[in-house]
Amino acid sequence: LKVSDVVGESISRIKEVDGKVHAFLSVNEEEAQNQAAALDEKLAGTDERGLLFGLPMGIKDNILTKGLTTTCASQILSNFEPIHNATVVENLDQADAVTIGKCNMDEFAMGSSNENSSFKVTRNPWDTDRVPGGSSGGSAAAVASGEVLFSLGSDTGGSIRQPASYCGVVGLKPTYGRVSRFGLVAFASSLEQIGPITRTVEDNAYVMQTIAGHDKMDSTSADVEIDDYLSALTGDITDLKIAVPKEYLGEGVDEGVRESVQEALRELERLGATWEEVSLPHSKYAVAAYYLLASSEASANLARFDGIRYGVRVENESSLLETYKKSRSEGFGDEVKRRIMLGTFALSSGYYDAYYKKAQQARTLIKQDFDDILADYDVIVGPTAPTVAFKVGEQIDDPLTMYANDILTIPMNLAGVPAISVPCGFSEGLPVGLQIIGKHFDESTVYRVAHAYE
Ligand code: GLN
Repeated sequence: LKVSDVVGESISRIKEVDGKVHAFLSVNEEEAQNQAAALDEKLAGTDERGLLFGLPMGIKDNILTKGLTTTCASQILSNFEPIHNATVVENLDQADAVTIGKCNMDEFAMGSSNENSSFKVTRNPWDTDRVPGGSSGGSAAAVASGEVLFSLGSDTGGSIRQPASYCGVVGLKPTYGRVSRFGLVAFASSLEQIGPITRTVEDNAYVMQTIAGHDKMDSTSADVEIDDYLSALTGDITDLKIAVPKEYLGEGVDEGVRESVQEALRELERLGATWEEVSLPHSKYAVAAYYLLASSEASANLARFDGIRYGVRVENESSLLETYKKSRSEGFGDEVKRRIMLGTFALSSGYYDAYYKKAQQARTLIKQDFDDILADYDVIVGPTAPTVAFKVGEQIDDPLTMYANDILTIPMNLAGVPAISVPCGFSEGLPVGLQIIGKHFDESTVYRVAHAYE
């Protein structure tokens, strides 16, 4: 088997289905084929191969790829070509994976359906009338439709796990600090992580092994030893203790989703684990705290897009200020503007105690809930999302309903703990995701449970 054939397969699959799925914003055909040819040559000359040798991958378009347009699905970056790679992209290059293209997303990773992309809406491969979830919807749809073997997404409040759930694939949000964010275009720096989206848990562990680790270019990346994730896939979960938060199976969770998760819990029991109901009482404040904090961070992070330093500039304005204003007004979409305004308001002088401080206090309580439960249990299990994939257009005019999609994924970003979504059956003919949440830096146990269950 030659790498050129594998890469050729991936590209022809994209040509066959992407006109319907719209998972890619750009396809790197020529460069991918050159890379494949180089790997084939290497294969002929030596036995030395990277861990992901010749595997076709998609990369979310908010992760920097040298010389390859990185748009964040925004008009303001529609012409932006990075001059360096993100650290994760460097790691994947070193492991001999092949970049096939850049995946669609909600603009600047703000959204839960991919409908906020300023270029096009990605469709769910299971039913193209439905959304793939977001914001890494392109990355999840690309894997689900067999266009690439794996992809990278980013998860600020659920953006890897929720689309993985909607598209019936496996998606991990690592512990905060486990994977370098150097070269990830920042939305909410204190919450987000890059992570792998794959078909199987084993594939996921392979990619994670490649991208995890300390990076001197990211001061928030942690200098904590990396486990051997593959050796965690023993299939043995006897005597493992699982906590099931009652808040995560209550009101607002669809009956079909609840049934699939309950069936998964029975399966985990058959495999030798035990579970008990617990409470995470402060999770009910998570969505409110998240939108305040994430928007505050976004308002500061997105200040750098002024039409001067990066991307698109509106020409011939009368003054510098007008150039800024016009470039930003034309370059950002409605949801991004909404967040910048909300964040700027929350951070303005006089409001700190009422909003930002309160939200940080709620965040501390939410994290404390997780620490308390995870001191007594190995993992926490529940659904990834309250519903299955919804129809394109169904929620786009109602931001608050849209925000509620992340009600079960946001608490983990606020707490910084690792969490995976694995497929656990179907409801209304659409995939349901099971979420498995672990202790800080204990991706191994998360993988062990997910793999045994899968
Ligand atoms: N849907 C959430 C938001 O819109 C989460 C996005 C994300 O994880 N990047 O902010």
